[in-house]
Amino acid sequence: MTDTPLRNTLYDTEEIQQKDNHFIHPWEIPSTIGNNKRTVITEGDGIYVRDSDGNKLIDAPAGMWCVNIGHNRQEMANAISEQVMRLSYATPWAMTNAPASILADELAKKSPGDLNNVAFVTCGSTAVDTAVRFMHYYNNALGRPTKKRIISRAMAYHGSTYVGGTLCGKPLDRHNMDFAEGMCHQISCPNPHDRKEEQTVEEFCAEKVMELEDAILELSPENVGMFIAEPVLASGGVIVPPDGYLKKCKDVCDKYDVLFVADEVVTAFGRLGHWFASEDVFGVIPDMITTAKGLTSGYIPMGALLISDRLINQLKETEGGDNCFSNGYTYSGHPVAAAAALKSMEIIEREGLLDNARIVGEYFQKRLRELLDIPMVTEVRGTGLMGAVECLNSGTTTGDMRDVAYDIGARIDKHCQQLGLIVRPLVSMCIMSPPLTITKDQIDEMISILREGIERTQAEIIAEGIWTPK
Ligand code: PLP
Repeated sequence: MTDTPLRNTLYDTEEIQQKDNHFIHPWEIPSTIGNNKRTVITEGDGIYVRDSDGNKLIDAPAGMWCVNIGHNRQEMANAISEQVMRLSYATPWAMTNAPASILADELAKKSPGDLNNVAFVTCGSTAVDTAVRFMHYYNNALGRPTKKRIISRAMAYHGSTYVGGTLCGKPLDRHNMDFAEGMCHQISCPNPHDRKEEQTVEEFCAEKVMELEDAILELSPENVGMFIAEPVLASGGVIVPPDGYLKKCKDVCDKYDVLFVADEVVTAFGRLGHWFASEDVFGVIPDMITTAKGLTSGYIPMGALLISDRLINQLKETEGGDNCFSNGYTYSGHPVAAAAALKSMEIIEREGLLDNARIVGEYFQKRLRELLDIPMVTEVRGTGLMGAVECLNSGTTTGDMRDVAYDIGARIDKHCQQLGLIVRPLVSMCIMSPPLTITKDQIDEMISILREGIERTQAEIIAEGIWTPK
């Protein structure tokens, strides 16, 4: 990206912000509609974006954990436009199209174990929705109509459809919302940082696995259909479970014939240095995987549910499997989205971005942990190219701690943006998941801005008497 503002004359910031008041954004607060002045992002290049005032910013969250190959790739634009001009749409019901079929075959090859069957959907939420509907269908077909309860975890995020929202475990997302009664049972979050003082990480891990087993027994295995888990809880704050946790959870699920669903909407397509993280990072072959985001590197919306041969074969062998799985969308296997996914995978492969994510990811984790010397930083978490810096849950503050935490997140966000960095503020956490193309020098640039942004915030809140370090 050149350092002179490019096409920003196309847009007048105030005019766009005015028009934007008709756009109900995700997690919108109605009382602020009419007064919002969101930053207008007008263009991108690699790991950078530019706003309508010409400011160049590092896109540390890669949009929304999704722009894995980086912004504005010409060959991606070519692949999309060529597909539009060849075939812009075909019905996925009675017919198929070549890009979707080739993509299904590629996903079957790249996914772990026998997850060789792909239901294409529109995003991560509809992937989760489809996993739940498949579990219902599967257990009905097998004559087990009560085996439908779902176990998920506190701090999980599984999407924003009615079903996806029901499975989410972040308390702040539950105000004033309704959920499917009795569908989901929640167990606690496996963040090793929260263990009791006298507990080892291994003991903490055993306790969390036992909690899953106890929940299945309490609800009765006859009533529990699936356990859904993000291998690393992403939007909950990049929470990495203890070693062996996921594998042990899978063993518990197998023991009680409960389907293990890995929600890899964030962790797949290179974010942790592999096509999928379940087996390569965590040693687990799930029964189903939900994915989206990095599948097309965010250039075109698309999601997928991968289902094991074992489940499909069971259905083939039962009479119940003769009834159709009445699920799917107008845009299932959309040829343009499939062409974008194939191009994204080709670029990841050709440019060695999985290796880059592993090598640079390690460097990123090391540099992130250096921020622990700032008194306001209380925890640094992450793995691969996923990281979170949590500020302030110690020391003394004036005012309600939660309000202070929100205020701090907003201040860090503001300072970082002024310095040239977008971080995703989540209460008082800064969340980062940069494009897989990022270099060590760019990581240095990102960390030094983040340090400056946090230190400026810290100086402000000490000067204003909001917080006193311990
Ligand atoms: N599952 C996980 C783990 C996610 O992080 C998200 C979105 O952030 C979703 C599901 C929902 O995906 P989407 O927003 O594409 O519907």
